[in-house]
Amino acid sequence: MTAPDRPIDRERLTAALEHANLPSLVAVLYQLTGERRWLADPFRPTRSRGMDDNDLGGFSPEVRAELRAAAVEAVTAWADGAPVAVPAPTGEALGEILSVAVGEPVPPEHAAMAAQDMGFAPAPTRVAPPNTLRVIVIGAGVSGMLAAIKLAEAGIAHVVLEKNDDVGGTWLENSYPGAGVDTPSHLYSYSFAPRAWSTHFGKRDEVWAYLRDVADHHGLRERIRFGTEVVSATYDPGAQEWTVRTADGTSLTADAVISGTGQLNRPKVPPIPGLERFRGPLFHTACWPADLDVTGKRVAVVGTGASAMQIVPAVAADVERLTVFQRSPQWIAPNDVYFAGITEGAQYLLDHVPFYRLWYRSRIAWNTNDKVHPALQRDDAWEHPERSVNALNDAHRRVFTRYLEAELGGRPDLAAKSLPDYPPFGKRMLLDNGWFAALRRENVDLVTEAVAEITETGVRGAGGTECAVDVVVLATGFETHKILYPVEVRGRSGRRLDEVWGPEDARAHLGITTTDFPNLFLTCGPGTVLGHGGSYITTAECQVRYIVDLLVTMVERGIGAVECRPEVEAEYVRRHDEAHERMIWTHPGMDNWYRNAAGRVVSALPWRIVDYWRMTREADLADFRTEPARHRGVPAGHGRRAGSGRIPTRGG
Ligand code: NAP
Repeated sequence: MTAPDRPIDRERLTAALEHANLPSLVAVLYQLTGERRWLADPFRPTRSRGMDDNDLGGFSPEVRAELRAAAVEAVTAWADGAPVAVPAPTGEALGEILSVAVGEPVPPEHAAMAAQDMGFAPAPTRVAPPNTLRVIVIGAGVSGMLAAIKLAEAGIAHVVLEKNDDVGGTWLENSYPGAGVDTPSHLYSYSFAPRAWSTHFGKRDEVWAYLRDVADHHGLRERIRFGTEVVSATYDPGAQEWTVRTADGTSLTADAVISGTGQLNRPKVPPIPGLERFRGPLFHTACWPADLDVTGKRVAVVGTGASAMQIVPAVAADVERLTVFQRSPQWIAPNDVYFAGITEGAQYLLDHVPFYRLWYRSRIAWNTNDKVHPALQRDDAWEHPERSVNALNDAHRRVFTRYLEAELGGRPDLAAKSLPDYPPFGKRMLLDNGWFAALRRENVDLVTEAVAEITETGVRGAGGTECAVDVVVLATGFETHKILYPVEVRGRSGRRLDEVWGPEDARAHLGITTTDFPNLFLTCGPGTVLGHGGSYITTAECQVRYIVDLLVTMVERGIGAVECRPEVEAEYVRRHDEAHERMIWTHPGMDNWYRNAAGRVVSALPWRIVDYWRMTREADLADFRTEPARHRGVPAGHGRRAGSGRIPTRGG
């Protein structure tokens, strides 16, 4: 970390420090000064409760003042050229600072992941020797964009096929009122592309703008074919290449295909009788009509998942009447800063104080990534298995129940309808963004019935409740188990991907690669969705690093095809399923979109993110059957940093 090109403004810094996250500042002070007193009492912050930022760290006013005053001196000294005492801590040293900064012991394995994310021990960028490898990436959302950025860095030619007319994927498509991310934005960003977020949880427009800016910054658009929907991908084992067909009849060939289509891509519209009869607007949340104004209208929302959670508070005050059809209640966690903006002072620190941004993000990562994972493991000796899976999970239950009762205190009718009987985290956890407040409104009704029928003029619940409405919103989720659906993918044997897997039963080694489909790589594949917390972007970075590592190895060694060994995949899936058997999402008390109708968890990662990070650090060629490249030359030299502009595919 070098000194800034503009000197620090002492007065602004002093004012900004009133907005500091003090636990992050402690770590900064130690790095700048190397004085161990900053890692000891009275400067050790308390741990965060839940996802709380714990800005004041549990410090007394005197200690806060001392920390801020010391930070002014240390940061201005650094700006004046003082060397950083501990510029790039790793291993135990980093683990110690991290443990102090989060106020609790961090297991040692987290330090390696943090060191990489913070740039103290960056993952080596492998660059392929000059090559003719050609890759097709399907989708220009969060993962497809990442794949394109990392392929370019590795010097591997590629083209991205995107069905929409812009980048952004889910953030382009989901434009419903209130849409936004419920992972803190400083973590829901690429590790290499921080952003000055205006709020702690970015709303859709800001997340989408971020992705568009990243695309522009990396010159991605020239490698993306927009308005190009992939309909099929077929592998030719003789040619060792994939032929990808698009909706407009174009064919392209490539040596490898990377899917970036995600699991929350294709709307799931339940077969409710009468859907086609309704006379007014009726649509899935992902297809919210841009010109629809619900002001003064009677609106029905079907479903109470994360999408409904955002829509209901966003429209409740504008509509005449809002009827929410709830088939199952949801566990909802409080969050104090859901709508809070990032103050100018806090932004100044993020932008100007060395290491501060890194520590701020790392603390969020600790608080949201794996902290809750142990609470989701089934304890066979636990005496209340019907309501929770262990004592810790039961403690979560008490916290969320108390919160619900406080929010719905004056409305015992609503409290009774809203309290789930299954364990918390059994379905994807939701953050309260005004849901309970919206339910309390006079113009909002909560109907605890599945929708049985849509009529010409309204909605009828399974319990017989009928309501006349002008607009029906289907907040009914996505086809999460049909990976790559509806693309028809045929592998080496000619069989379709969904035939090989069986219906809604996707499986893949590391969620990335599957037998019979050589040179096909998935991001957001089976068993990789984060049900326990964290940012999907962290997982995507793991997957893309692994995939690009493998592709570079293919180039270096003149390999034409890699196909996951069946026994490797089978063993991975066995361990995956076994881990899930001990976890919350196989609990019989609820349904969730992580598992399929047969009860097998298809979508969610059973391990901690740090475990997955370790598993995907590099690709082990021994896990694959390999074939020498028959059509591509073996590279002549190593170490070239290739350009990224060439669109590589033949045909079209
Ligand atoms: P979802 O979580 O799958 O929820 C679907 C809802 O529809 C459930 O409440 C379900 O009830 C209900 N439903 C389905 N069929 C029904 C019927 N016939 N009658 C009544 N209700 C019915 O879908 P989602 O809310 O779109 O969220 C999907 C995922 O997208 C989330 O879990 C999250 O990962 C992501 N997401 C994230 C954000 C964010 O970051 N803030 C926002 C939106 C979405 P049951 O519970 O009984 O099945």
